Amino acid sequence: MIDQRLRAAVRDVPDFPKPGIIFKDITPILKDPGLCEAVVERMAEPINPETIDVVAGIESRGFLFGLMLAQRRGKPFVPVRKVGKLPYDTVQQEYALEYGSATIEMHADAFPVGSRLLIHDDLLATGGTVTAASHLIERLGGHIAGYTFIICLDFLNGRDRLATFSSQIHTLLSYT
Ligand code: AMP
Repeated sequence: MIDQRLRAAVRDVPDFPKPGIIFKDITPILKDPGLCEAVVERMAEPINPETIDVVAGIESRGFLFGLMLAQRRGKPFVPVRKVGKLPYDTVQQEYALEYGSATIEMHADAFPVGSRLLIHDDLLATGGTVTAASHLIERLGGHIAGYTFIICLDFLNGRDRLATFSSQIHTLLSYT
């Protein structure tokens, strides 16, 4: 039932941020407290708190539900940010975009070495961003315990890129 409510809430915005992209806008979910609660509940369900130490959220929409999920499971939350936003010592990871490149970073002391991290973002598209986050976490000495997304664009095959890090890939809503 939550699937239908979620699907109805996610708004398609054609040609944003550039022509040809159909942007999946999650802001209508945020206006419905009951639906937000249901999303967090459903995302938390398959996560065994004994198998994760930390939840990492990807800037910026990954912060919205990432923190709520971490709170729900009683875990610390750490942000993965675009370069230049974090104030303390950082470690960076560059990754390729369709045209050019982008860089993300985390605080060097975001989590203790050996921590098991669950990575959350609102949406999995090509998997480029979350693959870069996975490499960054591993360089900092963390292990990837799994992934959770609200939306997955199946036709972009992002899942395939993540399988090398973890088989635990959870999504609430898929578009084929
Ligand atoms: P990717 O690295 O290709 O998996 O892209 C994932 C990131 O870009 C996530 O942080 C998403 O929020 C954002 N993103 C990519 N495509 C879309 C889309 N069609 N609608 C909304 N957000 C998107």
